Amino acid sequence: MAVAVDTEIPTRQLGVGEFHPFEAGGQRFAYMVPSAAVFAFDDCSAAIVDLVRARPHTPQELLDALAGRFTPEAIRDAVNELYRVRAIGEAAAPAPAPKIIPLRQMPIQTLVVNVTNQCNLSCEYCYEYGEDKIVDTENGSQPKFMSAETARAAVDLALAESAPGKTAHITFFGGETLMNFKVLRATVGYAREAAAAQGKDVDFSLTTNATLLQPDVIDFLADERIGVTISIDGPQDIQDRFRVFSNGQGSYEMAAPKIKALLARHKTRPIGARVTLTKQTLDVKRIYKHLFEDMGFWEVGFAPVTTAPQRGHALEAGPGYDQLLGQFRALAAEFLEASLQNRHHGFSNVRETLQEIHMGHAKAYPCGAGVGLLGVATDGQVSLCHRFAGSEQHRFGSVTEGIDRGKQAQFLEQHHIAHKTDCAQCWARPICGGGCYHEAHTRYGSTERPNLHYCEWIRGWTHTCLEIYGELAVKNPGFLRQFDGDDHEASERH
Ligand code: SF4
Ligand code: SF4
Repeated sequence: MAVAVDTEIPTRQLGVGEFHPFEAGGQRFAYMVPSAAVFAFDDCSAAIVDLVRARPHTPQELLDALAGRFTPEAIRDAVNELYRVRAIGEAAAPAPAPKIIPLRQMPIQTLVVNVTNQCNLSCEYCYEYGEDKIVDTENGSQPKFMSAETARAAVDLALAESAPGKTAHITFFGGETLMNFKVLRATVGYAREAAAAQGKDVDFSLTTNATLLQPDVIDFLADERIGVTISIDGPQDIQDRFRVFSNGQGSYEMAAPKIKALLARHKTRPIGARVTLTKQTLDVKRIYKHLFEDMGFWEVGFAPVTTAPQRGHALEAGPGYDQLLGQFRALAAEFLEASLQNRHHGFSNVRETLQEIHMGHAKAYPCGAGVGLLGVATDGQVSLCHRFAGSEQHRFGSVTEGIDRGKQAQFLEQHHIAHKTDCAQCWARPICGGGCYHEAHTRYGSTERPNLHYCEWIRGWTHTCLEIYGELAVKNPGFLRQFDGDDHEASERH
């Protein structure tokens, strides 16, 4: 018996839409690329997709082909649903290009304030000091330390530009932030009062290498509920490979006891470690074990060094990224095992990607930079993000003049993912967004270029995280509820 399908569905040939298939927990899923949604196939919808993938079918042909296996109603419902989520569509229609939707003027969620461009360490790979630096902070005209006045103006800007009634987020960055602790402390006090007077709230975080964590600093961070991320690369031999003082001496011995004191005292916020991975220090499991189990960090995030390819510490395109992916997958398997049992696991790269998948935003940009996040240099210049602080080319105004919204709009128009030809064809684009602007600038000399050197790695890692997401959705869906309505952190990626 022929059953009419939904009248909105064309009676012409149906082909497959744009999605990335994956399997997890004994079930088949699709990651819907245009909408960034995860769709679980039941047996009937899986059978329809298989048929349509082999060759285009009309709805009636689908009904005829599957008549013995499923009821006509089930087939009709599945076709309707697959068409609605765009897993299938008109075979003759060209795949829609990513749309450019002009952004409304966005509130600034996060201002990253570089309170100093100086550091007491001399890590060879650092983008601030190494051969890849964008701004000459040693010999340039910028002050080495932000003044209290400039920092207050940055707070005023953050409060003025944050959404009404919402929390303004200020992240202190450097250089080594604690080298300007006096200004940092005064700024927190000022911001709390200014925010209260405006009926707002302000949230603080900072990144530090931990070597200057004195007891009074630790008390302050704990009492003021400042979120802390420690830049540390792992156990002593790994940390001391690159994270050294200017005389070449490693920093582990000085940092480790201070980190332990911080972790013992600062219980008001979870403390995270941020690891820079180089070709010479690629040992993800060992690093994680040391930082999470031995030292007691709540979470550990890993980032491959951002650098020009000819540098000795750069991961090799191809084999280096394959090795990284293998190591990430091994640690991600541990994350999954723990999460299925509702045990905390601190591999934050997985958690952040799961959060992004769960939120289901198809990214037009790789991160919040230039959208809801801006950086401030020590002289008060506002820039694309903290890594571009002080770069005239990437300037978006200043803390006293305000944000140059025209320049921001032009930047966002030029950098939309629809303009990145390779990305427009890539299934991972809702999560990747073309990759970090700083990395693109360092590698290719332009923030407009997609980071094509690491696409296989990004796609491989996204696939792994989709599998983990699917497995959790099938076996422990309650775990994913922690991500409901949580969309701040994912806008920041450094
Ligand atoms: S940079 Fe590569 S992985 Fe990222 S969206 Fe573009 S093509 Fe895909
Ligand atoms: S991902 Fe890159 S461009 Fe974006 S905020 Fe981080 S460093 Fe800046």
